[in-house]
Amino acid sequence: MSDSSTKLNAAPQPPAAGAMGNVPTIRLDGVHKNYDLGEIQVHALRGVTMEIYPGEFVAVMGSSGSGKSTLMNILGCLDKPTRGRYFLDGKDVSGLTKHELAKIRSQKIGFVFQQFNLLSRTSALENVELPTIYAGVPLEERERRAEEALKRVGLADRADHFPSQLSGGQQQRVAIARALVNSPSLLLADEPTGNLDSRTSIEIMQILQELNQEHGLTVVIVTHEPDIAQFAKRALEFRDGKMIKDVLIQRRSIAAEILPTLPVLDEEDALDEIASTQPEAGPNGNSTPQK
Ligand code: ADP
Ligand code: MG
Repeated sequence: MSDSSTKLNAAPQPPAAGAMGNVPTIRLDGVHKNYDLGEIQVHALRGVTMEIYPGEFVAVMGSSGSGKSTLMNILGCLDKPTRGRYFLDGKDVSGLTKHELAKIRSQKIGFVFQQFNLLSRTSALENVELPTIYAGVPLEERERRAEEALKRVGLADRADHFPSQLSGGQQQRVAIARALVNSPSLLLADEPTGNLDSRTSIEIMQILQELNQEHGLTVVIVTHEPDIAQFAKRALEFRDGKMIKDVLIQRRSIAAEILPTLPVLDEEDALDEIASTQPEAGPNGNSTPQK
């Protein structure tokens, strides 16, 4: 993203090599979104056209108010374009009713938010299980799927914990498990690391990279941090409701390579790590355990 100041008006590049020929997971065609506030209209998206192919990992960037969340809500079938069309897996979903959109959402899309949005009096396992109820998964299957999803984010041992008993990073992992539980083909995350410290953010990016790499999940995240966008394969930049930049990421960051080089900062993880190693050894292998 280092050339962002010089190439703001560069024409969008074609999609990643090898992606041509497939049906795009996402195709937007001249999408506008207006919010009607009575006297005034907010023109949040002003003609957005893009394609995102299966297996891509895209970071959406841009300053506050540039339309990123509006875009994500449309991509996630939480909202509809005012004008223009949205094709999801080749099917035009722009004209569907709320009910129809909700059904498609529960089958195809996982959504992760900055604020985690977990139910506080509900265990991690039950939080993850919720979308399976809406999707009509048989009772006996729900818990098994939720356990499997928690395992995928490394939290199998926290199934009975309530959100208040989990660190921020762990809560976001529960939210990712909840997004995965119906086996979506598309994972959307709006500022998923916005409330997390930098190490925990990279742990979240590791999970997203793994899901993308090993499970072929198409991932789109919003971030305003260039360091986080660097974990994606492609970056889009928005300004004033328009896409002004579309580039492939050069020298992509790999979270699994970076994490071992960072100190363990999260107190809870540090405690876990101390407990699982020898009594005298701290998390970095030195002899003074962290307090
Ligand atoms: P970003 O996520 O990039 O910060 P948003 O998509 O949230 O941007 O907002 C784009 C523009 O649309 C802003 O001017 C914002 O104030 C406006 N906006 C967003 N959501 C609504 C809404 N529900 N009602 C009215 N205006 C909105
Ligand atoms: Mg936003």
